[in-house]
Order: sequence, then C-alpha cells, then structure tokens
Amino acid sequence: TEILCIMELDNLYQEVILDHYKRPQNKKLATTFDAQVHHVNPSCGDEIDLNLVIRNEVVTSITWDGVGCSISQASVSILSDLLLGKTIAEAEHILNNFTELMQSKGTMVGDDEILEDAVAMAGVSKFPARIKCALLGWMAYKDAVVQAQAKL
Ligand code: ZN
Repeated sequence: TEILCIMELDNLYQEVILDHYKRPQNKKLATTFDAQVHHVNPSCGDEIDLNLVIRNEVVTSITWDGVGCSISQASVSILSDLLLGKTIAEAEHILNNFTELMQSKGTMVGDDEILEDAVAMAGVSKFPARIKCALLGWMAYKDAVVQAQAKL
C-alpha cells in the first residue's frame, strides 16, 4: 500500500519524498537537548524519536531517528530541515499551515513559500489512512516544544 500511495502522488512530489526518505536530513539524535520525545503511529508501525533545542525562542537543533513508511520518515526529514533556525512562532505558523493542508482531503495544493518541500505531502491528504504518517513528526515536534518551554 505504501508504494501505491506514493505512486498516486504527482511525479515531482514523489521525487521530493523519496529523496528525503533515501537521504534523510538531521537523522542523528543530538546528545544534548531541551526535550526528547518518542511518538508512534500504531496504524502503520511508524516510530519517531525527536530531540529539540531552543535558544532565545529559536529552534537551534532538531534531530531525530525513526523507522517506518516513506511518508512518515520523509515528512520528519522535511520538517527538521524546514523548522531549523525558525522562531517558535514562525514554526507554529508553518505547523498550522501543514496541518490544515493535511486535513484538506486533497482540496488544497499548499503554499510553497511557507511549506517549501512539505508541499510535496499535499497529495497525502487524499489518503485518510496515511495522514497520521505525514503528521507524526510534526506532532512529535509540537510535543517537544511544549516540553522544552516548560523547562525555561
Ligand atoms: Zn506510515
């Protein structure tokens, strides 16, 4: 089903997703962190560990490790690249935009100025069973921010 899902996405977007899946960004857990979270998507078997460092309201380190389908692993790779260096407020804006896209049931194409490579996930919103795969890393990030801020 994983391959079928990917195959139904736009060609260019397939390439972006497969590129992140094969050459993941920031996939090496940093040894120092403000928050460390572990999130799972039991319906698909996806697992993600994510470590986060925030300094002066800016995401200065976002590293992860994980196993699972190409959509879950590519999505967390994309977000780790996209949110690094952003302020917490900027990252929240991007996260909300991505969540809205995932809930659009295929009716939105996504704003590539805000989402950059994450627009490649737009087609996933047509597959209800796979939306949790795409959102897993983003929910892990959201949880990590809350935990990191609680320590400040
Ligand atoms: Zn999955």
